[in-house]
Amino acid sequence: MSSFPADVPTAANRAARPSAALPQFASGLGITVPPAHAIALSGLTKTYGGAAKPALDHVDLVIPRGALYGLLGPNGAGKSTLINILAGLVLKTAGKAAIWGIDIDADPRQARAAIGVVPQELNIDPFFTPHEILDMQAGFYGVPKRERRTDEILAAVGLADKATAYARTLSGGMRRRLLVAKALVHSPPVLVLDEPTAGVDVELRRQLWSHVRALNAAGTTILLTTHYLEEAEELCDHIAIIDKGRVVVAERTEDLLRRLDDKSLTITIAERLTSLPETLKGFHIEIAASNRLVFRYRPSRTPLADLLAALQQSGLTVVDLATEETDLQDIFLQLTGTQAAARAKS
Ligand code: ADP
Ligand code: MG
Repeated sequence: MSSFPADVPTAANRAARPSAALPQFASGLGITVPPAHAIALSGLTKTYGGAAKPALDHVDLVIPRGALYGLLGPNGAGKSTLINILAGLVLKTAGKAAIWGIDIDADPRQARAAIGVVPQELNIDPFFTPHEILDMQAGFYGVPKRERRTDEILAAVGLADKATAYARTLSGGMRRRLLVAKALVHSPPVLVLDEPTAGVDVELRRQLWSHVRALNAAGTTILLTTHYLEEAEELCDHIAIIDKGRVVVAERTEDLLRRLDDKSLTITIAERLTSLPETLKGFHIEIAASNRLVFRYRPSRTPLADLLAALQQSGLTVVDLATEETDLQDIFLQLTGTQAAARAKS
């Protein structure tokens, strides 16, 4: 099992190696001033031929330069459609998309040169070696021979020792990394990975995460799709949740997680109440049933001990306590539920 290669530039070693080879963005882009956003989408819409409902429905989204951005959503949400539009593989129905400041309609070639895409499917020609595959890809993108960094990229994804092995002999994990390498040959400032860890075991997932983090630390903007909540939560600094072709939330991961700081405690008492005892009035408590109180609180702000002390003072007899925690799944359901309700109304 190959570990994370030491020569990949990371936030830690980048300062010491200012000329660290990755990334050194496509000189051919001819862009001297970095754009405000890595990706900017407005009203992006796709309806596949014959489909009753759009796969993407007026998506507005901005991916900041340098972000490690997670596009999270269930199967069929429209994640691959969005990515394939950026990759130039699917034609949008309406709306605008710019990659690295380049409008995909105005300059499709340049826009495509600004992005490297790792597709959801593992399609690799088994009869070529990683070195050959990267060389062909570089040729395809018109990267001049002297500017090719094949060995360096293979080293960066931990495949230096497999450079001349037939692709058919590579493990599933190595193939994934080869696809990442392939997406990097033209030094795109934006790397997009479509479900990079779907069906991948835990160890390999960790490895891929390390590679992605290192590339991001070295300056590459990353957009990845996933349907794993934990993955987006752990890896990404921004998360957009997409459902039925619509973006239901897009914010910094820490802001999204702050919504998780929301617990409720259900207190069952022996007494029957019609109003709250004085000692409990300072808390966010509702009477759910005459013998059941629901207390909502933020663990980071309200210590549970304060409530328990107040309960004791109130003289009530506690029969049972049950806590409930919000997790990303709940947030997701809340948000998509609200969205669905709003849509049903409109
Ligand atoms: P995700 O990647 O989030 O799972 P997709 O973008 O693949 O979602 O799919 C979004 C919707 O568009 C789904 O309803 C899917 O069936 C439909 N879809 C995707 N690709 C095509 C296609 N080539 N032709 C027709 N419908 C498609
Ligand atoms: Mg998909």
